[in-house]
Amino acid sequence: MSDFVIPTPVQAAVPVASGGLFPVRRIFCVGRNYAAHAREMGHDPDREAPFFFCKPADSVLTGGRDMPYPTMTQDLHHEMELVVALGAGGSDIPEAEALAKVWGYAAGLDMTRRDLQNEAKKAGRPWDMAKGFDDSAPIGLLVPASALPNPTKGKIELKVNGVVRQTSDLSMLIWSIAETISYLSGLVKLEAGDLIYSGTPEGVAAVKRGDIMEGFVEGVGTISTKIV
Ligand code: MN
Repeated sequence: MSDFVIPTPVQAAVPVASGGLFPVRRIFCVGRNYAAHAREMGHDPDREAPFFFCKPADSVLTGGRDMPYPTMTQDLHHEMELVVALGAGGSDIPEAEALAKVWGYAAGLDMTRRDLQNEAKKAGRPWDMAKGFDDSAPIGLLVPASALPNPTKGKIELKVNGVVRQTSDLSMLIWSIAETISYLSGLVKLEAGDLIYSGTPEGVAAVKRGDIMEGFVEGVGTISTKIV
């Protein structure tokens, strides 16, 4: 018997490659974590402290389902990323202990209404509606970290309609996964269920209805979705 006055909302979750579902608590995203992408966005990629924004937990789009083209944009961009799923959390996690908090990894897309983001930047306003819209976080199957080496290198790539748009290597991350978790845990207390989108390499560009996005992170997995 519950005290909730309305039915409880559905728990957002990501399917796991070996079966079962990983429940999502929060989604954090790192901005400008590959030097060449920072440059293409007009920024100096010197090792400034990492910065973060969030998407709602229920913005995950799973199972290779189609992604509806979002409202109120003419410039929907793909950002191919390695996603980290935490199985434990904490505050002020030392870098040396950070990877032990990781439950698994997946390939994901940080979809972005670039026109709204550019307007928000210009006006000094929040990015939320540019980044945190419905279905803005397509994600592939989660692979348990116990089944993988630590992903410090490996190809990350996105094709649109069979043509390579983004290609790089995890070794190009400005802030490593361990450094990112450690730094973020100094800003907020992390918990099991948190996802971290670790940033995108260069080559972000627009997609339109009918486009098929197929991405992979070497040794981790794939993500595929069609814009409808
Ligand atoms: Mn991103």
